[in-house]
Amino acid sequence: MRETKNRDTLCIHAGYTPGNGEPRVLPIVQSTTYTYDNSETMGNLFDLKESGFFYTRLGNPTLDAVEQKIAALEGGVGALLTASGQAASLMAIHNICHSGDHVVASSAIYGGTFNLLYKTMAEMGIETTFVSPDVTEEELNAAFRENTKCVFAETLSNPSLVVTDLEMFARVAHAHGVPVIVDNTFPTPINCRPFEFGVDIVTHSTTKYMDGHATQVGGVIVDSGNFDWRNGKFPMFTQPDESYHGIVYADSFGKAAYITKARTHLMRDIGAQAAPMNAFLLNLGLETLALRMERHCANALAVARYLQQHPKVSWVNYPGLPDNPYYERAKKYMPNGTCGVVSFGVKGGRQAAMNFMDHLEMASIVTHVADLRTCVLHPASTTHRQMSDEQLREAGVSPDLVRFSVGIENIEDILSDLEQALEKA
Ligand SMILES: *Cc1c(COP(=O)(O)O)cnc(C)c1O
Repeated sequence: MRETKNRDTLCIHAGYTPGNGEPRVLPIVQSTTYTYDNSETMGNLFDLKESGFFYTRLGNPTLDAVEQKIAALEGGVGALLTASGQAASLMAIHNICHSGDHVVASSAIYGGTFNLLYKTMAEMGIETTFVSPDVTEEELNAAFRENTKCVFAETLSNPSLVVTDLEMFARVAHAHGVPVIVDNTFPTPINCRPFEFGVDIVTHSTTKYMDGHATQVGGVIVDSGNFDWRNGKFPMFTQPDESYHGIVYADSFGKAAYITKARTHLMRDIGAQAAPMNAFLLNLGLETLALRMERHCANALAVARYLQQHPKVSWVNYPGLPDNPYYERAKKYMPNGTCGVVSFGVKGGRQAAMNFMDHLEMASIVTHVADLRTCVLHPASTTHRQMSDEQLREAGVSPDLVRFSVGIENIEDILSDLEQALEKA
């Protein structure tokens, strides 16, 4: 492929360049395994002395192409597709945090990630301190402990739409010798590339905008290659891995140490790999990602402005609105637009919000977001229903919050659907 940095072109061409007579479209390699002429070659593959595919849990040509495309879009050294966004978050953290370690996380994160940290990882012996996304540098500093191994946040949080001060989070984390992991699902690399602001590792639920068509559940971890794993805090990269023939990841893989270990150690043992068919579907979505994000953002801004002047709407949250508390941060980190999700409150609270939703004719009520079809959800009674009112408040989710995920339909149709449903709310 011709060298380019343009993300709209990378969406289409990165990761797969067919040779003479080969398929134009990325093929689905629906095979668990790959054959070799002799067992010596196979042995070298197992020892990671040669690169090649031998078992789809550890690598597959379809997955590989999509991983390269996403790594190119984020500007990283490598990527690893996972079975879901949840698997990506778990593996991104567990690759460097073990029992007895500590995580500092923003409280403005996806409900599933909150549970993962608060419940499952705590049960694994990994403790998390949640901090407000609006912490000062001093407050963030104070959350660190001797055993802190990483900081976790979302670029633009689902569903509270908080914009994290990525540079400040990275500066503080690096002062403590630990990396920052950021879930970049909502802006996608089209609207924000966290590595440009000092973030070390990026995760995504590819289920959302990256796919965009609601056809597969998937996730991805991307490595910037910039973190220094030799600083004494991460022996898993500098000491021999006895489960992998004594390999020392930082010596053998340099800048790609983190993402290689995530694959050869964690994916080997956990087995939450993506399916080739899902990677193929994800790739189709990625081809139009740049185009779709532009339309999502334009439509969402129009919806936010419309809702802002509507008498039945009590508040509107969209970081693209100039009076939004995160407007300046959004301008800095996402100058071309944020995402297609707008949240708002309907006057009358929880019941009015549910009435409004029941009257929508085009927008569908689904447990999904960031789809090309306009869709809507009431987080307090669905995705976040296991959280206490206190936890909801900390996550920025009020009981009347409607999460409206603006699709790429004609804006006139989206607005007229809103109009008639609000009238009946
Ligand atoms: C949906 C979502 C996840 C979880 O991803 P799944 O693919 O559903 O497992 C994680 N983070 C964010 C920001 C999400 O929106």
